[in-house]
Amino acid sequence: MTEPVLTGPVATGPALTDAPRDLAGSCLCGAVRYAVADAFAYAMNCHCAQCRRATGAAFKPFAGIARDRLRVTVGEDDLMSYRAGAPAHDAAHDGAGGEASDVARAAHDARCRRCGSLLWSVVRDGAFVHVTLGTLTDAPSIRPGCHIFTGSKAPWFTITDDLPQYAEFPE
Ligand SMILES: [Zn+2]
Ligand SMILES: [Zn+2]
Repeated sequence: MTEPVLTGPVATGPALTDAPRDLAGSCLCGAVRYAVADAFAYAMNCHCAQCRRATGAAFKPFAGIARDRLRVTVGEDDLMSYRAGAPAHDAAHDGAGGEASDVARAAHDARCRRCGSLLWSVVRDGAFVHVTLGTLTDAPSIRPGCHIFTGSKAPWFTITDDLPQYAEFPE
């Protein structure tokens, strides 16, 4: 078995063989493309009303990672920033001492301005992004580990898997 040859700039830190690969992602029309390290810290399915409206779906599968692990590879000028205030799960994720208003100030959704795809949300005072798993072209190593905000989920949708469910955010 031969190791793949890595090309391009390599970040300092972990040994080469430990460096996660990049995952490609794209909006619906392809105007915006991004690359994100396959090193998400967590992944969840959020059923809150804001995520339902943002996606038009029963819930939003997303994964969190430090903001600097994601970069736009094509179409930076086609990115649209939408600030609606932080969804409750993002505020909860800010940790102890984080005021929701502080999070809301920095939080925003990044969409393609041409097709409107929700690509990621900037959260946790700008330190993290919540990438919408549906816009990944490559399959991430991580899988959503739980359902959150099931207390306000759509009544017409039934969760049929065995993942843990939290009425709001897991403690
Ligand atoms: Zn697009
Ligand atoms: Zn949500």
